Amino acid sequence: MTHRTTPRTIAGHTVGGDELLLIAGPCTVESRAQLTTAADAVLAAGATMLRGGAYKPRTSPTSFQGLGPEGLELLREARERTGLPIVTECVDPRDVERVAAVADVVQVGARNMQNYTLLTELGRAGMPVVLKRGLSATLAELVSAADYIRNGGSDDVVLCERGIRTFETAYRFTLDILAIPVLKGMTDLPVIVDPSHAAGRRDLVEPLSLAAIAAGADGLIVETHPDPDAAVCDGPQQLHTRDLPAYVARLRDAAAIGGRA
Ligand code: PEP
Ligand code: MN
Repeated sequence: MTHRTTPRTIAGHTVGGDELLLIAGPCTVESRAQLTTAADAVLAAGATMLRGGAYKPRTSPTSFQGLGPEGLELLREARERTGLPIVTECVDPRDVERVAAVADVVQVGARNMQNYTLLTELGRAGMPVVLKRGLSATLAELVSAADYIRNGGSDDVVLCERGIRTFETAYRFTLDILAIPVLKGMTDLPVIVDPSHAAGRRDLVEPLSLAAIAAGADGLIVETHPDPDAAVCDGPQQLHTRDLPAYVARLRDAAAIGGRA
């Protein structure tokens, strides 16, 4: 498959080259104890970066919206403790400075893919960004959204396929595997996959992850929690942290077959 991916160095890691980017962590930061346990597990499993939302773009305004600044502070502590770079979401252009002060990589969620003010501000802040595909966005729209960040001033954009809306209701979203090679032919940006939000179920996370690697993904962003049954959000899809080392080992084996580290 021909691709034009240009590797980026993001938080000390080469993304889009031979190294598989493995971002893991809870959907949302819930408490110091939860994040510390998760962060230690992510480090021990050999993942590359820690994810965790302090600001959550919830479908219902009455759902938990994240711990906000307190969550950012817990993420800062987790980085100090583990040395893992932090990936966390920004949902509001007014919070860019606050989030950028803690994040090594800012996540833009599916629901904000076309929030052009947010994208431009993140570019202006010079932040590396994981840009998730909107629930009903075409690949051309995703690439155009990335251009807002790039035109703002940051070229370190990683595209993320996280499943799209289709007529199928048997699982949460439909992971568009074809998006991986096709995006890599359309743009020089690295492409990663979020199997957790696509699947909505933890038993489907590993097969989707392996499929993504086989299709040439540059990495994965996956949810993991020390006690998924008690998770504040997205419990059913979060891998138990005790299952993370074996999962990561199997991904690394699969990646090695494709010549990646
Ligand atoms: C998330 O990563 O927790 C999230 C909300 O993802 P998405 O924007 O893809 O739904
Ligand atoms: Mn989630």
